[in-house]
Amino acid sequence: MIVLHWTASRSLMGTYNTFNKSILPSSRKALVNASSLNVSSHYLVDRDGSIYQLLPDTVFARHVIGLNYCAIGIENVGSDTYPLTQAQLFANEKLVRYLTRKYNIEYLIGHYEHTWFKNTSLWRETNPYYFSQKIDPGISFMRRIREELQDLNLKGAPPKK
Ligand SMILES: [Zn+2]
Repeated sequence: MIVLHWTASRSLMGTYNTFNKSILPSSRKALVNASSLNVSSHYLVDRDGSIYQLLPDTVFARHVIGLNYCAIGIENVGSDTYPLTQAQLFANEKLVRYLTRKYNIEYLIGHYEHTWFKNTSLWRETNPYYFSQKIDPGISFMRRIREELQDLNLKGAPPKK
């Protein structure tokens, strides 16, 4: 699957520097308790739509609880108060099309939808209390990209239980 995110930060380099460490800072207590592996993502998309690949697609990246083992992550510089741009929408669309041609991608979800997989066979977390509620990359961004990518017939999150 592919999981789309926003960074909740306003700069590309700030995000890059956050991801470019192996060990998570101790300030992120809830995450550190589960593992000291730093958070990261396979791709990072800047405000102007430039796409940066941070990790090979097949390397495990820590970006979505429960689904990391099967999820390619795409981060976008932005937040709820710094909405994602049209250029980012186009770039995500192109990148998802590219990845879908290359791999057997079945699902495209926004990070906020990951919890809906919790009671499915796709969910893989050993600690049931290790969990987070997310809002990124926003409902409207997901609605818009799904409109653009209708022809790919990618599945979204399963119905909420
Ligand atoms: Zn996220």
